[in-house]
Amino acid sequence: MRHRKRSKRQRKIDRGMSDHHILPVSRGGTKTVRIHIKIHQKYHALFSNLTPDEIAEYLVFTFWDGYVPQIWRIEQ
Ligand SMILES: [Zn+2]
Repeated sequence: MRHRKRSKRQRKIDRGMSDHHILPVSRGGTKTVRIHIKIHQKYHALFSNLTPDEIAEYLVFTFWDGYVPQIWRIEQ
């Protein structure tokens, strides 16, 4: 496959960006999102390799004394 050289604009966008696995690879994750490397490092400094569900639980019980944000509540 022929690789096209990235445009100056695309190189600027890519600079400082990194791929973050939504679910850690060690936990079976494959999907990634592009986030700035500095934010990425801070995310992992705070949450290590927790899954999104584990992070939500950590936030609720460590910082919010059991309060679950409305947006996370599932209508029954
Ligand atoms: Zn990551």
